[in-house]
Amino acid sequence: MTMEFIVGAVIAGLVVMFFVGKYFSKKLPKETHFECARCGTVARHTDRTIDAWRNNKTTFFCQSCHIKWVRARAPRERARSASPAGSRSGCLGVVVLFAVVPLAGFLLMHAYA
Ligand SMILES: [Zn+2]
Repeated sequence: MTMEFIVGAVIAGLVVMFFVGKYFSKKLPKETHFECARCGTVARHTDRTIDAWRNNKTTFFCQSCHIKWVRARAPRERARSASPAGSRSGCLGVVVLFAVVPLAGFLLMHAYA
């Protein structure tokens, strides 16, 4: 057995354990379906509702009610994310990045020249 093979086997084992753990260690609701708390439709659990279930939520909403809720909530969220402060800090971050990267390169070149 070569060293590369052992390392490869260990990495493969870790990857498999990661995926197995990811899929089997998480609890799942006993029921595969739930009744929408808003419209009463029986809907299948999705990743979103399973996450809610894991967070001890007892009421779930079907996909269409969830989309309606997201849309109803969206204008406020949009207003908040589009606030001048948010966009300014975003632009500032980019400006800083563009200023720092050439400066760092310049300093490194001088340090090693
Ligand atoms: Zn619904």
